[in-house]
Amino acid sequence: MVLPENLLPWHADPWARLLASRRAGRLPHALLLTGSAGVGKQIFADRLAAALVCETSVLEAQPCHRCRACCLAADGTHPDLHRVMPVEKGKPIRIEAIRELIGRSSLTTAGQGMLVFVISPAEAMNRAAANALLKTLEEPSGASCLILVSSASHRLPATIRSRCQEVAFRPVPREQARKWLIERTGGGDVSAVLDAAGGAPLLAQTLLETGKLERLNQLADELIGLGQRRADPLEVAQVWAEWPITQQLADLRRVIFDLTRLCVTDVANHDGLYLGGKRMDLKNLSKDINLRKIFHFKDEIDHLERLTSHNLNSQMMMEKLVNNWLKLTRPEKH
Ligand SMILES: [Zn+2]
Repeated sequence: MVLPENLLPWHADPWARLLASRRAGRLPHALLLTGSAGVGKQIFADRLAAALVCETSVLEAQPCHRCRACCLAADGTHPDLHRVMPVEKGKPIRIEAIRELIGRSSLTTAGQGMLVFVISPAEAMNRAAANALLKTLEEPSGASCLILVSSASHRLPATIRSRCQEVAFRPVPREQARKWLIERTGGGDVSAVLDAAGGAPLLAQTLLETGKLERLNQLADELIGLGQRRADPLEVAQVWAEWPITQQLADLRRVIFDLTRLCVTDVANHDGLYLGGKRMDLKNLSKDINLRKIFHFKDEIDHLERLTSHNLNSQMMMEKLVNNWLKLTRPEKH
């Protein structure tokens, strides 16, 4: 992957702290990068991995983006840098992948740097894979560094979490995010898209580039349409199943978050809503459904999220979710 040459501005602090640890020879054997999606944890992990194999002698300049090691790292062909990820997005990381990692970690490095592993998203490891990794964490080998990346670290076993040093990425300050996004999009109003991304700049950029904001709006319309019995449940389930399941569940969670907020607050108070532009429609929907029902639906989303590593049929999962929503929004009999 091609790394941006400059550090993302909100990464400066954690980067400086890790650099200081490294200078002092105290770089942790295992790091866990946490924080919400879209703040650049993967970019940070790749930059750190490249820095750890970079051959330039100036620590502050690593990765130099110029030496042989940096070129190989950018190509994804550096022999000491390994990325472990699901074979397909949304699928689990299996034990075979972790066994391969363990096998490699006992080898000596090909270059002069360290042996580096990036596991991302770490919560995609199934139980067997996580257990296998635990062994490596208990017996760290000298010149290796394990970098785990997770936007849902609560789903990692506590035993894994406790053996890694956490690098927590906090939400990016609004003004910094806005400035960064405007520099990349050439101006315009970026508030709506930043709201939809929960304030995460890289997610906002993706939303802009992929038209995902429209998708979130459409999702709200679908929930409203189902509630009013205007939309065809099977058709909606089909549309939902076309999206990667983890993404679909995350998007639903955003709309439901707004609905929850609007149940208990006035429409005028729309700070922090993902879909500020849809607040009137969502407010109307919130009048027909109570908080208890909304939480029930949220529980259902959580439940399905836990099942995503089980390879279930996404069409069936989405039909179940749609039916659930229909039940919850059934008009009360008088
Ligand atoms: Zn280099």
